[in-house]
Amino acid sequence: MNGVRERIEQRIADTYKQMGCVAAVECYNMLLGEYSVLLTNRRKLVMKLGSQTCICRKKKMTRLPCCHALAVITKANLWVYHFVHPMYKADTQRRIYNQVVYPMEMHDIATVDDRAGRVVGGDELDDDYKRCNLPLCNRRQSGRPPSKHKE
Ligand SMILES: [Zn+2]
Repeated sequence: MNGVRERIEQRIADTYKQMGCVAAVECYNMLLGEYSVLLTNRRKLVMKLGSQTCICRKKKMTRLPCCHALAVITKANLWVYHFVHPMYKADTQRRIYNQVVYPMEMHDIATVDDRAGRVVGGDELDDDYKRCNLPLCNRRQSGRPPSKHKE
């Protein structure tokens, strides 16, 4: 499981198809992860896998690896998903969009008590009560309703 969503998987697959423009990959600094990428049009690019930058993109390769990066990653026998930004990982997206929201503690906020039909909260409550969430209204009691026929 690589944690990447289908749509991103497709984009990586599409980029792999562009790898045909790469003729050869040469590592010239293993420590810094710097490679020279020779293209089929005889141009040469510098691909810095260590800092995830490629000359084909002026700015940092913050999104998905370009086809040159993929060529280098393939050549170096690395796992392509290591180079996919975490924001594209399904796990991250799940954490962002499916987060459990915990209710905040309310201080001194006036609310309407449905059962009593009046405003509660604010100054009239004592200090301990103000630091608690108000209990849910109309909460049903657990268990069977009390029997009407008492013996
Ligand atoms: Zn590139």
